[in-house]
Amino acid sequence: MAFKLPDLPYAFNALEPYIDARTMEIHHGKHHAGYTNNLNAAIEGTDLENKSIIEILANISKHSTAIRNNGGGYYNHDLFWKVMGPNGGGTPDGALGAAITSSFGSFDAFKEQFSKAAATRFGSGWAWLVKNEKGLVVCSTANQDNPLMDLADVKGTPILGLDVWEHAYYLHYQNRRPDYISNFYEVINWKEVASRFAAAK
Ligand code: MN
Repeated sequence: MAFKLPDLPYAFNALEPYIDARTMEIHHGKHHAGYTNNLNAAIEGTDLENKSIIEILANISKHSTAIRNNGGGYYNHDLFWKVMGPNGGGTPDGALGAAITSSFGSFDAFKEQFSKAAATRFGSGWAWLVKNEKGLVVCSTANQDNPLMDLADVKGTPILGLDVWEHAYYLHYQNRRPDYISNFYEVINWKEVASRFAAAK
């Protein structure tokens, strides 16, 4: 059973003015579609065809670079679309809000760490908020790696991710990655992040 490109859960222009419609259209319809198609091609005819993406990522060190790059790209973008939304932003409350305060000291301290992880990731990659045995931690990964991969430096369940590949922001922001990062907080769907936090082991 092949992996399918998930539908974008809102219109291309739903995240404007923070993320422009053209970027969303290309990012979803070309980049995410490409990772999905290339993942399917890479696993075709292997026993990975019957595995979940989580299982594939958990054993990624045993698989090819094509599966690592495209399996990561498939999963990461699916998470990315869902943790954003129109009418996003604000601050999380409830158990997630309490966990952020407990792990980082305050919401602003979390933002500072997450923004720094996103800004200092050299080249292409992702910034993550991860739930693991230590609580909540911030990290970043190169390329399309993520904390679900067995070879990740920081392992755990990603509950929030920010794509800092240039394809995610260059049309609108050019080289101004810090502006893209600071505007990301305006589109975070904290309800979705909270439900991922609750579901994470
Ligand atoms: Mn991307």
